[in-house]
Amino acid sequence: MKTSSIVNLDKLNEDIESIKKILYLDSPDLWIDFSDKIESNNFDEMVLFFAIKHNYPLIIKYAVENNLIDLDSPSRNKTFSSIREHLINIANKNNNSEIRNYLLGISDQIETDSVSEKCSISKTKEESNSYTPEFICPNCNSNIFSTGYTISKEIIYKFSKESNKAIPMSNKILDSVSCSNCGTNLKEVSPSSLESLCTVQNCTSCNLDLTTTGIIDKVKMVYDKESNSFINSNTSYHCSNCNKELSTYQIEYFNL
Ligand SMILES: [Zn+2]
Ligand SMILES: [Zn+2]
Repeated sequence: MKTSSIVNLDKLNEDIESIKKILYLDSPDLWIDFSDKIESNNFDEMVLFFAIKHNYPLIIKYAVENNLIDLDSPSRNKTFSSIREHLINIANKNNNSEIRNYLLGISDQIETDSVSEKCSISKTKEESNSYTPEFICPNCNSNIFSTGYTISKEIIYKFSKESNKAIPMSNKILDSVSCSNCGTNLKEVSPSSLESLCTVQNCTSCNLDLTTTGIIDKVKMVYDKESNSFINSNTSYHCSNCNKELSTYQIEYFNL
């Protein structure tokens, strides 16, 4: 409980009461569920979900800093790998950058055991990583790999008689990407092109940094009957560690 002092408990209770009021009007069932959890000090994924949805960051800070929740445990929403990922998605949807940055910074905070200064966190991240991909938003001029980008998922729900509720049948990532800083739709990129930009410098097989391991060029020679000699037919480029051929995207990136 070393950090609980930074959370003003009166304000926390006020915030919780505000959410209760909203839920009470929305759905009495949810209100009962939520109230029961608060009563037993159970700040779980559902409680934090509503705190983010209705924009009460103090509740998130309280739960995290008092170790009432493990953000890296699996989410109950199967479309996300962890509770953290789910909550970040909700924060993005609600344009709540304060909560999003806070959730993104937590792992560093624990690792370095430092105070949650957002700027110091992003600095250590950059320093420890030799390669930072870059895509500059044409509108706000920020590198979206630092400030964040938003992608959308399309989830199809169908009603299931067995579970008596609508359940997700399929979910796919849509092609659209927007800058999380200014909201501009980035037509030039897709989630997959941004992903490959992150790894363009690494071998797709052994994952080593090609600028460190080096690459080998292989020239295929074919025998030319007319000139009675071998001629150069094509060149391919390979990781010098595992021999995996570079992708066309990597060849373009390295200007080969
Ligand atoms: Zn932007
Ligand atoms: Zn390799």
